[in-house]
Amino acid sequence: MAVDTATPKDKRHVSKKCPECYEYVPLEAKRCPSCKVRLGAVNEHGMAERLTNWRAYIICIALWLFLAFYVKWAFF
Ligand SMILES: [Zn+2]
Repeated sequence: MAVDTATPKDKRHVSKKCPECYEYVPLEAKRCPSCKVRLGAVNEHGMAERLTNWRAYIICIALWLFLAFYVKWAFF
């Protein structure tokens, strides 16, 4: 019986492309060396997946909440 050799998903790509600056970066790179954006795994197009910047979202929401409370406190 033949042994089912599971082929690794992506052996075609030797590098991935940064979605921000289109610079080629190593496959295992977690961060783009030129624009410092965080990078995920390579996809089928050879582009690095863009990771969600949760910290930026949280800071943005917190600032909006602060603004809302400030407006409420200052004008009502
Ligand atoms: Zn980049």
